[in-house]
Amino acid sequence: MTAVPDRFGRPLRNLRLSVTDRCNLRCQYCMPEEDYVWLPKANVLTFEEMARLVDVFSSLGVDKVRLTGGEPLLRSDLPVLVRMLAAKPAIRDIALTTNGVLLKDHAVALREAGLQRVTVSLDTLDRATFRLLSRRDDLPRVLDGIAAASAAGFTGTKLDTVVIAGVNDGELPALVDFARANGSEIRFIEYMDVGGATHWRMDRVVTRARMLQQLTAAFGPIREIPRSDSAPAERFELADGTTFGIIASVTRPFCGTCDRARLTADGMWFTCLYATTGADLRELARSGADNAALARAIATTWTGRTDRGAEVRAGLPDRTPLADQAMLRSSPHLEMHTRGG
Ligand code: SAM
Ligand code: SF4
Ligand code: SF4
Repeated sequence: MTAVPDRFGRPLRNLRLSVTDRCNLRCQYCMPEEDYVWLPKANVLTFEEMARLVDVFSSLGVDKVRLTGGEPLLRSDLPVLVRMLAAKPAIRDIALTTNGVLLKDHAVALREAGLQRVTVSLDTLDRATFRLLSRRDDLPRVLDGIAAASAAGFTGTKLDTVVIAGVNDGELPALVDFARANGSEIRFIEYMDVGGATHWRMDRVVTRARMLQQLTAAFGPIREIPRSDSAPAERFELADGTTFGIIASVTRPFCGTCDRARLTADGMWFTCLYATTGADLRELARSGADNAALARAIATTWTGRTDRGAEVRAGLPDRTPLADQAMLRSSPHLEMHTRGG
């Protein structure tokens, strides 16, 4: 399938589908506030509506879907949606990003439904740091979830760590060791100034360069693996063959190859993580538009796409959080937990 290209020739290939804006953690870098404005329940798409939109996206080139949120495992019966998507021959990859808290309960059902890959967010191996970072005491459940994913037969599991100066930046080697022992690959993410990250400051970002310095000091020489796709992570290899990734969205943005778009649980479609406006596909779908009309609307938006949000942010002389609390309360779609990471 030839994917629709945007103005810079970037194909529409990758859809991040947020199935809920709710979350059972309160990560400092994503949901640091005491309370939030939630999407009205009536606006949240049914699985049938999501599956229909996935069909329309796949007719334009999307062949990879990642389920995300909020915390996607809070959405009841998620395996039902996975099964619906897995039955679509045009979708060749279905993945899930989860905080892992509920993974133990759902790993087998998700696997049986046809989920291919799991990414679990794991910021620390220290229970007190986990509590500080997420405001919940759930590290043991996350670790059980990771083990349950392997036991259910998932391979190629990725573990994602947002690295924050002074919080978990001393743990990089331990996290590499943990992932190696677990047969997973760890990816270190630079703390981003996305919507919701109201406590973001440049001096809390641990840069790719500092991560590599720390890992070289711990493990010796590190080889960069040449890139072969549009994935956001750069991959590296230690002398013993262990691999890990770095997602350097702040200091080395990768907008040039970005084929990703995000659909919120209520059907707002954003063509960039930093986009301040999106297209209301729920409204269009519920107003009686047929698939051809939906496809035309999506193709028109994508062909006009010029987003390069992280590169624009990187060029700002004095970088501060994208949105303050008042903006987020009036536009909850700006939140990372709403548009899906
Ligand atoms: N709740 C699930 C989870 O945490 O895996 C899925 C949704 S979460 C929004 C998706 C990803 O976004 C997570 O890996 C999280 O670490 C990342 N994320 C959220 N805020 C971020 C920030 N300010 N900088 C970098 N990554 C962030
Ligand atoms: Fe943390 Fe993910 Fe929840 Fe955000 S959506 S608070 S990153 S678990
Ligand atoms: Fe893609 Fe926007 Fe992220 Fe750049 S900032 S990689 S264009 S989603």
